[in-house]
Amino acid sequence: MTSGTDQRSSEHDVIVVGAGPAGSTAARELATRGRDVLMLDRARFPRVKPCGGVVSLRSASLLPFDLSPVIEHVVSGAYVRLGDGAQVERTTAGPLAYMTQRSRLDHFLAERAQEAGAQFRDGSGGLVRSVQQRGGEYEVAVNGAVHRARVLIGADGANGVVGNKLGFEHARESAVALEANVPCPGGVPPWLEGRVALQLGRVAGGYGWVFPKGDHLNVGAGGWKTVVGGELRASLDRLCRTYEIDPATLTNLRGHHLPMMRPGAPLWAGGALLIGDAAGLVDPLSGEGIYAAMASGIAAAPAVDDYLSGLTDSPAGYQRTVERELLPDIVASHALTEILHAWPRPFVTLIQRSERFWAAMAETLTGERTIDALVRRAGPAASLLASLARRVTARRYGER
Ligand SMILES: Cc1cc2nc3c(=O)[nH]c(=O)nc-3n(C[C@H](O)[C@H](O)[C@H](O)COP(=O)(O)OP(=O)(O)OC[C@H]3O[C@@H](n4cnc5c(N)ncnc54)[C@H](O)[C@@H]3O)c2cc1C
Repeated sequence: MTSGTDQRSSEHDVIVVGAGPAGSTAARELATRGRDVLMLDRARFPRVKPCGGVVSLRSASLLPFDLSPVIEHVVSGAYVRLGDGAQVERTTAGPLAYMTQRSRLDHFLAERAQEAGAQFRDGSGGLVRSVQQRGGEYEVAVNGAVHRARVLIGADGANGVVGNKLGFEHARESAVALEANVPCPGGVPPWLEGRVALQLGRVAGGYGWVFPKGDHLNVGAGGWKTVVGGELRASLDRLCRTYEIDPATLTNLRGHHLPMMRPGAPLWAGGALLIGDAAGLVDPLSGEGIYAAMASGIAAAPAVDDYLSGLTDSPAGYQRTVERELLPDIVASHALTEILHAWPRPFVTLIQRSERFWAAMAETLTGERTIDALVRRAGPAASLLASLARRVTARRYGER
């Protein structure tokens, strides 16, 4: 269905750069509204993306179609441990999250965008080299062709070309994560059936994980870039030893940034918008970015559609939706991450021992509750938490 070798220049309503969950969702939503959409990706699909591939229930609920064809495992619980301490099993009544491989998930989402009418060029014909605003249009140069559109959506991930070329502000800060696969030709070990394993308190501002997939395990570790920097490989090896995995058996080792926006940072200018990782919308606590990628793609569509129809003179409505629906959670989650970073033991003890705290954390993944609502329920203690978190952030930057 893709046409990576087609090098003709073309004219569209909207060009979407990047065909991850953000780009494919925005392209599908706009094509469904009857817009002429061109989606470009430099990678030939199906392509690999460094990611744990966990799709939360709240992410899946954003989509108007079933993800079953690409779900490899359903989990309804987690083993949680602090460092090398004993792991405690926590479960939920229903599913908690779906395990996918990004190569299959993203290909599936891009196909849904094409089915809705979006055109897709991947591989060398989709590699965006430069972006320019000329008159009321954007010119996007790929190998051997220039595509034009009134609206340009940057869905090109961390350090994307659209944000860079158009001078958007960079994400305030970044986490980094490293992940790899462990082949399990005999199937997932029985203890991990329907469960994920999480190791907290080892990687500053993050965690280590073991996720079950179809024929392999995905292992990874991630945390604040300012603190963990080059130590991630050693952290991943330590994690493997904790779970009795031989680090020498790891395959497909990959690392990547998880960008986080500064509240108030502009997400649009003229007819250009940033969505997903390009906008820095990753959840700091869980590292979940697929939800916000899809949610921001959905939020962008009506704002772009109204702008193209002349009903509004800018797509500013997109920024308002993100600030209302996504940003409060990112801010609250950032504060919780700092608390976890500074005081991992009480945080993990709460998850392991308090049924209510565990249930509340699980509900943030299913979408029954937001992290912002969870923090606000702490009443006056919420502002104390926020002020503690600010101090930890300041100290962390002092530590650099
Ligand atoms: C190790 C790791 C583990 C993670 N695990 C999870 C998880 O389990 N669950 C979860 O929800 N989130 C997870 N995340 C975060 C998640 O991967 C991202 O938030 C998510 O991929 C963002 O989607 P996106 O569509 O914005 O960007 P991406 O998925 O990064 O897609 C961007 C696309 O843009 C394309 N592109 C870039 N530059 C250009 C260019 N110049 N021209 C054309 N195309 C271009 C790329 O090829 C890519 O396909 C993890 C992140 C990391 C690093």
